[in-house]
Amino acid sequence: MAHVLVIGGGVAGLATALLAARRGHTAEVFERDTRAPGAAPDRGLPAGDVLGRDLLGRDVLGRDLLDRDFFGWHRPGVPQAAQPHLLLGAARAVLRAELPDVYAEMLRLGARERHELDWFDVRPPARPGDEDLVLVQARRIVLESALTTALRAQPGAVVRYGEPVTGLTATGGRQPRITGVSTPGGGYGGDLVVDAAGRRGGCASLLATAGCRPGTVERHRTGLAYFCRWYRLPDGVDEGPRRPWTVTGGAFAGCAVFPSDNRVFAVTVFAHTGDPTRGALRDPAVFEAAARAFPPGAAWLGLGAEPLSGVLATAGLDNRWSPLADARGPVVSGMVPVGDALTHTNPTLGQGTSLALWAADRVARTAHRDPGSPGFAAGYHGWALRTLKPWFDFQAGADAAVGARLAAGAGAGAGVVVPGGGGAGSLAGRAREAAALFECALEDPEVMRARARVRHLAEPPGRAYADPAVRARVAIWLARRPDWAPNAVGPDRARWEELTAAAAVPPQPASPRTSARS
Ligand SMILES: Cc1cc2nc3c(=O)[nH]c(=O)nc-3n(C[C@H](O)[C@H](O)[C@H](O)COP(=O)(O)OP(=O)(O)OC[C@H]3O[C@@H](n4cnc5c(N)ncnc54)[C@H](O)[C@@H]3O)c2cc1C
Repeated sequence: MAHVLVIGGGVAGLATALLAARRGHTAEVFERDTRAPGAAPDRGLPAGDVLGRDLLGRDVLGRDLLDRDFFGWHRPGVPQAAQPHLLLGAARAVLRAELPDVYAEMLRLGARERHELDWFDVRPPARPGDEDLVLVQARRIVLESALTTALRAQPGAVVRYGEPVTGLTATGGRQPRITGVSTPGGGYGGDLVVDAAGRRGGCASLLATAGCRPGTVERHRTGLAYFCRWYRLPDGVDEGPRRPWTVTGGAFAGCAVFPSDNRVFAVTVFAHTGDPTRGALRDPAVFEAAARAFPPGAAWLGLGAEPLSGVLATAGLDNRWSPLADARGPVVSGMVPVGDALTHTNPTLGQGTSLALWAADRVARTAHRDPGSPGFAAGYHGWALRTLKPWFDFQAGADAAVGARLAAGAGAGAGVVVPGGGGAGSLAGRAREAAALFECALEDPEVMRARARVRHLAEPPGRAYADPAVRARVAIWLARRPDWAPNAVGPDRARWEELTAAAAVPPQPASPRTSARS
């Protein structure tokens, strides 16, 4: 069996180590941060249990320990940790099949499940595969805590906190072979090094120092900016409203609500980075007014929820495909990337953790097959191209359409090219069809199922949406609404400019609690 060295103890790294150890390998994770997020795993107590008293004599609950790190620990290496996350059915399926204890721990810590077809008052008759159309609603720290708990108890796996990888050891040649890592604590040898250091991990420069030619990176800027604020439902309220749908996009801005664990939820407002009004959204009062201008924001903020954070801003995200390969094939052997280090996807479709878990699972399943060899590197790269890249391309295409729409709606469209213009079959034309499909899905369970199968990575869009029955239903829906215009939701531009001009205070300076710019 192999000894696997994992660079980075985020979701991808922890999962890779755990999955590998469960298949009989040994694994060492090197994490730059000095400890695991969330202290609940140390205690192993349910989120609702009273653990003690704080200095003011208030009960400290298991969930408070999650909250303490989630809201109070600034993690500059992982800025997205404070942003809302939801897990798709693809991630849930890996967890339930391969790491059922981790999944059970997530539920115990307060994660919630929501079946897509429960949007309808009566769930339509089940079909094979429906069981995977389930969203897991939890903050990312819940998954990290559950993975950490399992790793602590796992023979053959260890996490070295506060030990960043600062170098790679390699044997020479045209395609160097990585044989180990170095940290301030010393050198470590292994059969396979896994780059799970995220999108900002910097392993490319370590590889260059080791004499490796660069891989070919594919990068698509999204031009999207997100503003999010966290809340807790009022006492006595355990559920938010079932309707309206929690995501909505207008002509130049949109709003999404992320129900999470322990009655916590996030509201996000998004706009184009070129929109001159976006800076005002950092002001909590402006943010709330803007969010309330969209149906989901109005419904959830109307409950009188308690704010738990300032407004967290994230902008400048890209979709980035970073294989350790170029046109000639893998540039290195003995090392493969997983998670954001390989496929960083903009979060609008929530694919990141699912793709990370798929890659982690692939590494664990194959690490016994001569993992330091060029053949292993080529096999992994081929698998990633077949399995992950199509979803990456789907995300990049979806973001191009959304970015172009928001930019045009904000009058910031100069320089934003809509490929093929606006006719049928063009990006804009396809965006209209996609918007119609989404609206139709809210009324038609068959279309909702197709949409959910794509959303949860169960079926590629080219197949699910090409189904003649689905196409016919959407066509009928559109034919009955000849005047239907997509994205006609939220305030008009004049009202939006009023709302965002009403900043009571200048935009907040960046601080750990209020800004998580990535
Ligand atoms: C705003 C935002 C929202 C998102 N929302 C969702 C969502 O809803 N659903 C979803 O599935 N995904 C979402 N994602 C993506 C998701 O967070 C990631 O895809 C997923 O968690 C995998 O991350 P990772 O483990 O690869 O990298 P990271 O989480 O970045 O972890 C990398 C780790 O490596 C460590 N590290 C870096 N360099 C070194 C080094 N040299 N030595 C040692 N350690 C190092 C870092 O400290 C860090 O802990 C979102 C991302 C963003 C940016």
